Amino acid sequence: MSREHRRCLIIGSGPAGYTAAIYASRANLSPLLYEGIQPGGQLTQTTDVENFPGYPEGITGPALTQDLRNQALRFGTEIRSGLATKADLSKAPYVITFEEGVEVEADTVIIATGASAKYLGLPDEEKYAGMGVSACATCDGFFYRNKKVAVVGGGDTACEEALYLASLASHVYMIVRKDYLRASDIMRQRVAANEKITVLYEHNTVGLYGEDGVEGAHLVKHLGQPDEERVDLPIDGFFLAIGHHPNSELFADYVEVDEVGYIKTEGPTPRTRVPGVFAAGDVADPLYRQAVTAAASGCKAAIEAERYLGEHGL
Ligand code: NDP
Repeated sequence: MSREHRRCLIIGSGPAGYTAAIYASRANLSPLLYEGIQPGGQLTQTTDVENFPGYPEGITGPALTQDLRNQALRFGTEIRSGLATKADLSKAPYVITFEEGVEVEADTVIIATGASAKYLGLPDEEKYAGMGVSACATCDGFFYRNKKVAVVGGGDTACEEALYLASLASHVYMIVRKDYLRASDIMRQRVAANEKITVLYEHNTVGLYGEDGVEGAHLVKHLGQPDEERVDLPIDGFFLAIGHHPNSELFADYVEVDEVGYIKTEGPTPRTRVPGVFAAGDVADPLYRQAVTAAASGCKAAIEAERYLGEHGL
């Protein structure tokens, strides 16, 4: 087991982590950034990013990730790959253990471990990844203008995504496993009032079909009941909205998390309740979950880390 000391440790490599690294390295904090198992985070699963400011022609998720990474490297960030396996935030300096037994003792820690969209777990979701399957309507909805799409889920996110998609697509089907929407009243009312949305209650998705991309979904109505019925639904896009899972487990004993697991921060700042430990990006953001909002919070976290180090003479 080797142990080393750092002034600023950044865990996670989405737009939040890399932006924190750009700011921290320019502020001479000599940050160390661990990339985790999916360098670039959720962004790498998005084909075209058209809403990140500064790219008028759009950019692919992997290319944007590479640009952010290169910018962090340019100012001297040390980037390593590896997964954090243990965190001790009980007292400063904080100790994070990574795979292969590397222990990093850090004066400040920026948690930017992101959130993962939940999927149904069907092999077809992987087969059609980037070819009609998406977990982000704001990111990919634009590609389905005047096409038919389906949204899986019956919560507030699913309703929001369905309403957003209804402004672009020719028709939106909501695939809901129960006989009601669990979303809030207002969202249910908005969905009901929208003529472009059809809610398919008590339907489960069992597969997708299509030659070079999604052309439809295999559904089962009343799954497991005597009147069970197979239904094929022709669609061009299949959106998952069955919840997100913030990657905060490792830190949840120390920082405050909400009932879903999102790290709670102090007002508009990225400060957690542990001094010198900051949370940036989707791990602390149940509301916006955009690359640009993640980048902005990474910037704030690095500025906070710099101030904290200065105030504590570290
Ligand atoms: P929720 O957990 O509220 O809803 C998830 C939905 O997905 C449910 O309808 C659930 O069905 C369904 N689901 C889960 N797993 C499966 C599965 N395997 N197969 C089929 N369906 C499945 O998640 P949300 O992301 O919608 O919301 C999370 C939180 O964020 C909530 O508290 C919500 O209120 C809040 N939120 C608020 C917003 C706002 O105020 N504007 C916007 C977005 C979210 P079932 O009902 O059967 O369990």
